[in-house]
Amino acid sequence: MPFDEVLAAYDPALGLEVHVELNTASKMFCGCPAVFGGEPNAGTCPTCLGLPGAMPVVNGKAVESAIRIGLALNCDIAEWCRFARKNYFYPDMPKNFQTSQYDEPICFDGYMDVDVDGETFRVEIERAHMEEDTGKSLHVGGATGRIHGADYSLVDYNRAGIPLIEIVTRPILGAGEKAPEVAKAYVSQLRELIVALGVSEARMDQGNLRADVNLSLSPKGSGVLGTRTETKNVNSFRSVERAVRFEMQRHAAILSSGGSILQETRHWHEDTGITTSGREKSDAEDYRYFPEPDLVPVAPSRAWVDELRGTLPENPTVQRARLQAEWGFSDMEMRDTLGAGALGLVIETIAEGAAPQAARKWWLGELARRSNEDGVDLVDLPITPADVARIQALVDDKTVNDKLARQVFEGVLAGEGTPDEVVAARGLAVVSDDGALGAAVDNAIAANPDVADKIRDGKVAAAGALIGAVMKEMRGQADAGRVRELILEKLS
Ligand SMILES: [Zn+2]
Repeated sequence: MPFDEVLAAYDPALGLEVHVELNTASKMFCGCPAVFGGEPNAGTCPTCLGLPGAMPVVNGKAVESAIRIGLALNCDIAEWCRFARKNYFYPDMPKNFQTSQYDEPICFDGYMDVDVDGETFRVEIERAHMEEDTGKSLHVGGATGRIHGADYSLVDYNRAGIPLIEIVTRPILGAGEKAPEVAKAYVSQLRELIVALGVSEARMDQGNLRADVNLSLSPKGSGVLGTRTETKNVNSFRSVERAVRFEMQRHAAILSSGGSILQETRHWHEDTGITTSGREKSDAEDYRYFPEPDLVPVAPSRAWVDELRGTLPENPTVQRARLQAEWGFSDMEMRDTLGAGALGLVIETIAEGAAPQAARKWWLGELARRSNEDGVDLVDLPITPADVARIQALVDDKTVNDKLARQVFEGVLAGEGTPDEVVAARGLAVVSDDGALGAAVDNAIAANPDVADKIRDGKVAAAGALIGAVMKEMRGQADAGRVRELILEKLS
């Protein structure tokens, strides 16, 4: 169903659950390294393998990170809370329960103000709680990598027990046509906050930050929430936006033809841009939660919470206003930077030495174009803020011009190395050496005697044609200013 028809008949209600994998040195309840990857199952011990008799101990750094995330999201911090066992069987969860928090989350009742096209939406945070990640199954032999059709499965428990914070919003109402953008902006600005806090690498493409998107529609103006679906593990900002848009259109098509929405989880397919049915899910799903008997309650002192409040990064709204003034960006430039999810990247690029307008120009120009073409978020492009700052430095010191800089970007994105390596390997440096330039200028004069005569007669404007000829001969790699000087010297 066309998007505007969806909006004419229905109001969307959004909900977002974001899992953040913390960057603590050790796991949530044991001393194993909190590093995913490496030799499978090398980073495990009796506790994270769930062996009988093994006793968990809470990671203090993870509690600290949870509290700092909660404070940054304007949450209340529980004076006393417990962990709970969420019981279910899954092969990648060796204990057959996940140690999580249930009715006593450590952080609750917060909000985050999200900017979309210069408009502010307040997203209310219901809770942020601590839990542990599961291991990872590898299904071998099938065509899809899923369990269906696989010959056998392998399980790697290195990830089992890595600390997670799950951040859950209240239903986001009233976003209307902007619902897809609000969802994207929320996840993007939440990521920037997490990065500023330094508590996670927060790479969506690496699974450090994973978003589940809940969506329901209610008949326009009725205020009655419809049945919701939950699209799991959407792994980029763009996909969050696309998944919301797709589900709004899918729900509306079903509802308007008299059908009803099945309450279920759904899988997002990046390649085709659609969701497909996962498993049916009822609100009454019974995980037999009960308080974790092997862990003492967490009771952060008020003094500690206040101390952590003092370590928070600047409030994002205040920070944006300050940066806009410092950088001299117009409202439009600032809005576009935020909208592109480029604020953090621009900040880092400036910190690496680039001028603000140059940092903005590359991320919102050349690189935004590339991210659109490739269908990936800016942060997931294989180029760093340091690379961008270096390329701008090469422009500033006239090693390359703007046009050649675009080829340097192309080379870095293609994995050809650092900007300097690309310039060397592709031979992109601008030539300003008088010997090489002088020869090319002589050739251009010889090939265009009539133009040369005009310049001799004082028609300096004609020099452009000769500069063009020199640039052509030197494949765009001549210092145009120096070429002009040489032409005028030779013809004066
Ligand atoms: Zn362990």
